[in-house]
Amino acid sequence: APRLSEERAMRTQAQNALDQEKVSSKRQLESRIAEQTRRLLEENRELSRLSLTDALTGLPNRRALTESFAREAARAKAAGQPLSIALLDVDHFKRFNDTHGHAAGDQCLRVVAREIRQHLPRTGDLAVRWGGEEFCLLLPNTHLDGALIVVERVRLAIQAARVDWGHAEASVTVSLGVHTLTDWTQPIDLDAAMVIVDRALYRAKSSGRNKVVAATEMT
Ligand code: GH3
Ligand code: MG
Ligand code: MG
Repeated sequence: APRLSEERAMRTQAQNALDQEKVSSKRQLESRIAEQTRRLLEENRELSRLSLTDALTGLPNRRALTESFAREAARAKAAGQPLSIALLDVDHFKRFNDTHGHAAGDQCLRVVAREIRQHLPRTGDLAVRWGGEEFCLLLPNTHLDGALIVVERVRLAIQAARVDWGHAEASVTVSLGVHTLTDWTQPIDLDAAMVIVDRALYRAKSSGRNKVVAATEMT
């Protein structure tokens, strides 16, 4: 009888140890899964951030603007507010590249991006790299007169900025087209709005560059 109860005690002990082991390895597995899930979510967030960011300037890219425009236009329509949009293009950028080289050209784009970012007053304002040497500004709840003040300030800041690429420095100017959306009775998408600002930008270019033209100034 004592041997039997000793054996039973040992068996119970062994069983308990086994149970404990199971619980602890289950916990380990769970925490590994939780850690992996957390890492995957983080990587996903980083990937989606990268897919919306321009690598050279760090500004959001065209895709980001497409998303933001739809959101801002819906909000502006609901609130009956104006939405201003501007397209900025570096003047004679091909010549800048040909004269100073592509590294200088890239530095120029970084400086332009920095000046735009620094001279947008409101947190809701958005600046994106539209492509090449073109940048787009989206100014929610901003009338044309306000938008003109903002983009003129950006133009002057870029004109005054030094583009320094280590070996030498230079300066650039930019031209801008601006348009303010106020009529929300007609649906308007980003492409349609860009056609209008692009036409204003073209006028700024053809009438001498280093200037701002509003779409309303066109006949
Ligand atoms: P305009 O005043 O009429 O705008 O003249 P422009 O020379 O700026 O315009 P154009 O469209 O003829 O040339 C744009 C040039 O910008 C072409 C290309 O050499 C250069 N470019 C576009 N994207 C980049 C870029 O990411 N990096 C560099 N370094 N150059 C670029
Ligand atoms: Mg261009
Ligand atoms: Mg250009």
